[in-house]
Amino acid sequence: MTTLPLVIHWFRQDLRLADNPALVAATQRGRVLPLYVLDDGSAGEEKTGAAARWWLHHSLKSLNQSFADRLCVRMGNAETIVPLLASTHNAAAVFWNRCYEPWRQAQDEKIKKILNSEGVEVYCCNGALLWEPQQTLKADGTPYKIFMPFYRNGCWGASPPRKPQPAPVTLKPAELITAQQSARDIDNLNLLPAIRWDRQLIPHWNISEAAAQKLLFDFVSEKLKHYKTGRDFPAQGQVSRLSPYLHAGQLSPNQAWHAAQVQVQRWRDIGDTYAVDNAAHFFSELGWREFSHSLLYHVPRLPDDNLQEKFNRFPWRDDEEALHRWQRGQTGFPIVDAGMRELWQTGYMHNRLRMIVGSFLVKNLLVHWHYGKRWFWDCLVDADLANNSVGWQWIAGCGADAAPYFRIFNPVMQGQKFDSSGEYTRHYVPELEKIPDRYLFNPWEAPATVLSAAGVVLGKNYPHPLCDLKASRVRALAAFAALKK
Ligand SMILES: Cc1cc2nc3c(=O)[nH]c(=O)nc-3n(C[C@H](O)[C@H](O)[C@H](O)COP(=O)(O)OP(=O)(O)OC[C@H]3O[C@@H](n4cnc5c(N)ncnc54)[C@H](O)[C@@H]3O)c2cc1C
Repeated sequence: MTTLPLVIHWFRQDLRLADNPALVAATQRGRVLPLYVLDDGSAGEEKTGAAARWWLHHSLKSLNQSFADRLCVRMGNAETIVPLLASTHNAAAVFWNRCYEPWRQAQDEKIKKILNSEGVEVYCCNGALLWEPQQTLKADGTPYKIFMPFYRNGCWGASPPRKPQPAPVTLKPAELITAQQSARDIDNLNLLPAIRWDRQLIPHWNISEAAAQKLLFDFVSEKLKHYKTGRDFPAQGQVSRLSPYLHAGQLSPNQAWHAAQVQVQRWRDIGDTYAVDNAAHFFSELGWREFSHSLLYHVPRLPDDNLQEKFNRFPWRDDEEALHRWQRGQTGFPIVDAGMRELWQTGYMHNRLRMIVGSFLVKNLLVHWHYGKRWFWDCLVDADLANNSVGWQWIAGCGADAAPYFRIFNPVMQGQKFDSSGEYTRHYVPELEKIPDRYLFNPWEAPATVLSAAGVVLGKNYPHPLCDLKASRVRALAAFAALKK
């Protein structure tokens, strides 16, 4: 009887068993040593933020269970650890799914060279994107910089995304790690914060591959039909909330894409054009994820540098007090405060709110988008280098395909339009619960009698507005106009 060779599957942002191309290939090759390495040193400034670390802790616990407590967990430089494990266990090959952060791309190349030089084979697959950046180039071989042509021609013009694969049937992890050791090693990564603010996140999430599948199923069967109509209204809960699962890889984009496509085909068969049209918008949002990753791959300076260089001369303001009030949801603009508190309390923020609070920070307060990006990075459970960087460059107007700078969201009108019943805002800003709808988004304009009847004392139990909306808008437009000179 021949013994199968030992191979390593190195997990990164693919923390699942189903539709994991590199894992499938590894199981076909031999007995699998499943490995996770926390490498903060190599990530540097881009090391996983606090809320995403909390997510990672629970993800690893869940993945470990899927491997009958045999997940090998290490902390340190992957460049040393992966080759060392391969040689210690005489591994024939190492398998991984590609990631697109510039630091990981560089590290992967180095590790591949080391392993190959030691006679260990390396297999890399695409497990994170519907189309990899090289598949969506223009006819002249250069990358798209504008979303619509990228999506229409680059994505839809390429071959359809591969169908998801089931989890490997014969998943026998190599028994090199004891159950106690594995659980202890996950705890020793110290991914949970010392002060346990993360407890408030717990009721909002169920972190496992199975939970991701259930969320996808519920979304496709109940919400996809009204996605386009409802996606901008935070109180309607019409969005999928799949982003943290997609980032950590408990769900693959192919699983999301195909589950939605199957449902769309049913609607096409019965001629439900309303549902088909609504669902089309979901595909284009997945397209934005692809676009962001393609931009990051082709423009590695995206997380730090303004893509439009004229913004290097923009007169950003240093205003620690304003930044602090924005971070804490104490700006005195109820819709902004609601968004920032949702982020703090749940680790997530609805997309409409990400745009409103982002515009407020970079335009009304003139605070550099880097500060917003960093706060999101630390607080979002779905913090993702590509999506977060593109999101902030879009909001600041300095990105490749960005909102024009002069489009400054008015937080009062945004609240009135997208949360007209006030349900979302009152939930996160309970101080204003009794304020009538008419003044909910502009309490500073409410007559004293209205404030008093609602139990609101501005400056005491709810802040005065941090800035004057009209004046700050004029100031932002003047700063922008100066760039053109
Ligand atoms: C300033 C700013 C920062 C952002 N930071 C992040 C981030 O760190 N991580 C992150 O995943 N998304 C980020 N986004 C994009 C978007 O807000 C979230 O992906 C979305 O709100 C997640 O909620 P959902 O899963 O319910 O989305 P749905 O509306 O259900 O969309 C489905 C999926 O499509 C993708 N998607 C949707 N909108 C976008 C978008 N604009 N850009 C890229 N992908 C998108 C996500 O993977 C999402 O899970 C940011 C947006 C802005 C404006």
